[in-house]
Amino acid sequence: MSTSGDNNDGSGFGTRAIHAGQRPDPSTGAIMTPVYLTSTYVQEAPNVNQGYDYARVANPTRSALEGNLASLEGTSDCICFGSGVGAIDAVMKSLNPGDRVVAGNDLYGGSFRLFKKVYEKFGVIYDIVDLTDIDALKSALQKPTRLVWFETPSNPLLRIVDLQRVSELAHEAGAQVAVDNTFATPFLQRPVEHGVDLVMHSTTKYIGGHSDVVGGAVCTSDQIWVEDLRFQIKTSGAIPGPMDCFLLLRGTKTLHVRMERHCQNARVVAEFLKGHALVDRVYYPGFEDHPGHDVAARQMSDFGGMLSFTLKGDRMEDALKVLSGTSVFSLAESLGGVESLIDHPASMTHASVPKEDRLKAGLKETLIRLSVGIEDAADLVADLEAALAAVG
Ligand SMILES: *Cc1c(COP(=O)(O)O)cnc(C)c1O
Repeated sequence: MSTSGDNNDGSGFGTRAIHAGQRPDPSTGAIMTPVYLTSTYVQEAPNVNQGYDYARVANPTRSALEGNLASLEGTSDCICFGSGVGAIDAVMKSLNPGDRVVAGNDLYGGSFRLFKKVYEKFGVIYDIVDLTDIDALKSALQKPTRLVWFETPSNPLLRIVDLQRVSELAHEAGAQVAVDNTFATPFLQRPVEHGVDLVMHSTTKYIGGHSDVVGGAVCTSDQIWVEDLRFQIKTSGAIPGPMDCFLLLRGTKTLHVRMERHCQNARVVAEFLKGHALVDRVYYPGFEDHPGHDVAARQMSDFGGMLSFTLKGDRMEDALKVLSGTSVFSLAESLGGVESLIDHPASMTHASVPKEDRLKAGLKETLIRLSVGIEDAADLVADLEAALAAVG
């Protein structure tokens, strides 16, 4: 069955966020997509069915979510998974031993772990490259390359990679391009419009938006990849449950409204931190002196809700005081929910990256990452002000 974004009819993002992939339930008129809690589907005769035969392969609640996300990313298809790493895993599993992946050097820690601890063992080759450095990319692409994999904005340093330039160079070299678009969401950035082949999401984050579900997705219009990924879902089975799909569909209905507020609040918080005497650097692509600002302004419609900062003096104990001194910001891994979170990459989200690689990538021990929520900005600033005052 098709999961293509059937509401991709020229209507605006907000309209598609609410309606794409969904229609009132034909049997009752229920406006919300039902949670189809079923493992199998009755067939009229062998292989005569309504497009569904077994729920590992497809489920109508999941199909609605896939249609919705495909429409938002502007792709023909989307394949949903039980987690973000499940989605990355399915992409990597479609490669062959000996295939080479050029991966960005500032990635979600779990992506590194999957690449280095699982897929290298099966003969996939990973070269970690700073993709903000076009010369480094060019030289990496001199060896045969199957896929270029990266995040922009990256995690946790909010570095910006030029989607169009990387896609052009990769394609010239015969490679394809996959982007983890979790931080930006399709509201702020649609990588396929810049030539990217595969767009991956941890839907756990902004797409779900309420910190109550774990999920992943890959959006693409490349029919070979669509077939490969559908084969992976059917064969390896990393499926999301129907209730999870329902929660994600509920999340996307407000994605555009939430993202606007996340972006507004992040700017206020970034400006506050930039002016604070104890703060060394603020990593926020919305600042004109951020090295990726111009590229971000070109490929994103706003600068997102994530930012990181370091403290002067680089004393880890100071960072720990800030991390345990906030009360509106909760100390937790993850990001993208309505509530603000504070995180210490070196000991939490990026602890699986070896320390020497972490420091090489510029991830200091006092680096603090914020997922700025949609509470009142004044309360967020007051909370950080109080936590920083404890450092003194
Ligand atoms: C969280 C995250 C992932 C992994 O997704 P899960 O849903 O936790 O499996 C991948 N990439 C990025 C950028 C993330 O933030």
